[in-house]
Amino acid sequence: METLIKKQFCAIVGEDRFRDQPEDLISCSYDAFTVEAVPDLVLLPLTTAEISEILKLASKHRIPVTARGAGSSICGAPVPVKGGIVLAMTKMNRILETNTPDRYCIVQPGVINGDLQTELARSNFFYPPDPGSMAFSTIGGNLAQNAGGPRCLKYGVTADYVLGMEVVLANGDIIRFGSRNVKDVTGYRLSGLFCGSEGTLGVVTEITLKVMPQPAAYRTVLAVFNDLDDSAATVSDIIGAGILPAALELLDKVLINAVEDANNIGLPREAEGLLLIEVDGSEEQVEKELALIIEKTKKNNAVNIQEARTPEDRDNLWQARRSLYPSMARIKPTCIVEDATVPASKVPEMIRGVRSIVNKYELLCGISAHAGDGNMHPLIACDKRDHDEMERVEKAIEEIFELAMSFNGTLSGEHGIGIAKRKYLPMSVDESTLKFMHKLKQAIDPDGILNPGKAI
Ligand SMILES: Cc1cc2nc3c(=O)[nH]c(=O)nc-3n(C[C@H](O)[C@H](O)[C@H](O)COP(=O)(O)OP(=O)(O)OC[C@H]3O[C@@H](n4cnc5c(N)ncnc54)[C@H](O)[C@@H]3O)c2cc1C
Repeated sequence: METLIKKQFCAIVGEDRFRDQPEDLISCSYDAFTVEAVPDLVLLPLTTAEISEILKLASKHRIPVTARGAGSSICGAPVPVKGGIVLAMTKMNRILETNTPDRYCIVQPGVINGDLQTELARSNFFYPPDPGSMAFSTIGGNLAQNAGGPRCLKYGVTADYVLGMEVVLANGDIIRFGSRNVKDVTGYRLSGLFCGSEGTLGVVTEITLKVMPQPAAYRTVLAVFNDLDDSAATVSDIIGAGILPAALELLDKVLINAVEDANNIGLPREAEGLLLIEVDGSEEQVEKELALIIEKTKKNNAVNIQEARTPEDRDNLWQARRSLYPSMARIKPTCIVEDATVPASKVPEMIRGVRSIVNKYELLCGISAHAGDGNMHPLIACDKRDHDEMERVEKAIEEIFELAMSFNGTLSGEHGIGIAKRKYLPMSVDESTLKFMHKLKQAIDPDGILNPGKAI
């Protein structure tokens, strides 16, 4: 990028929020996936007006602009593959309003999900989407990836909570849509278009979210199985019986041991499968649901069922669940996390299929799943410097997606497409629909400057 243009960008944000030194550029060149690409500049805007000016100038010179939250995406979504500018949104991190009587809050995009949860908990409210990365990922990034998490089985994903947005378009125009009302049918529902668009349609600068009162009671249990098939069958039985737990998580033996190695919290190392199940609601409802769940786990040969007795026990179990990726990443330098998703009733067959694929390619793979909604997470520990191993990983992933498609599944339940899964899109989206998506992108961002090379 020419020095003169750099100076113009610097003038918009000021020198203290302008970065062009190698260490700053490299910091924004990767995410939790494995690809790296270095931008020309990193800018840290504070206001919508600054972002509008930046985009006007970038548009004029056709410079790519990629918004970045915490950089925790696992599909390459915030990696600036065409260089240009990274807009680091982390300084726009204020919670602007929480209004519990009207059940909404308004936040800037750089607010960390966990910080919002802490703030809402003071009024006994919560924001349901709870990605495993909630301690560090931003609401802007969650929105752009339409993030999910364990609680989304019962409560839905990010898009289900977005009431309104302010967005800066590629040409610098600022648009606002939606409102503070939990019911609103006024014009097109544009929030649905922007959720999951991976920063390719606009830079989100303010978000209005629906929030929920906290349930009166929780019960959390850990069910241990000697056979992974039995744990998967339990998932189908629970959902089939009409029970919708707040979370229904599955871990196989590889992951039980990886988590135990990393956290040492007493998980049963010999177990082949483990279900972490949480129910919430009124006292009466959780008692009733828990009794039914225990019945189903026993019917499917659970060898042990432990209940979290204290809030600390519960926190430890969830902490262990959230540590899956870092625990696997301790084993080998590269950890590939997939999230092919199938209808819940297909979870047992999908698990068997994934196991046989990774065994065929001799890969070290742990299987976890937000099993209640069929969102599978095979985690493959590998080494990106080992070409032979990475070829086998590629082949296995392709077969895993083909298997998911054969069950009427989908490529991604929550992590998004980014660059990692673009080549597989035609498996899941037909040609005319893909063309329609490209036309939308062309209409909104005609020069293709917003996060080029991602999502579609
Ligand atoms: C340990 C770990 C656990 C995880 N667990 C989960 C999980 O349970 N569920 C889940 O869904 N994901 C999970 N993820 C993936 C990741 O955390 C999510 O995709 C998250 O939503 C990314 O947020 P971020 O702030 O890191 O965004 P980034 O990774 O920085 O960016 C993600 C995308 O959002 C865009 N973007 C960021 N801010 C804006 C903005 N203001 N306007 C427009 N576009 C923007 C970027 O351009 C990019 O395309 C996990 C990741 C890790 C490392």
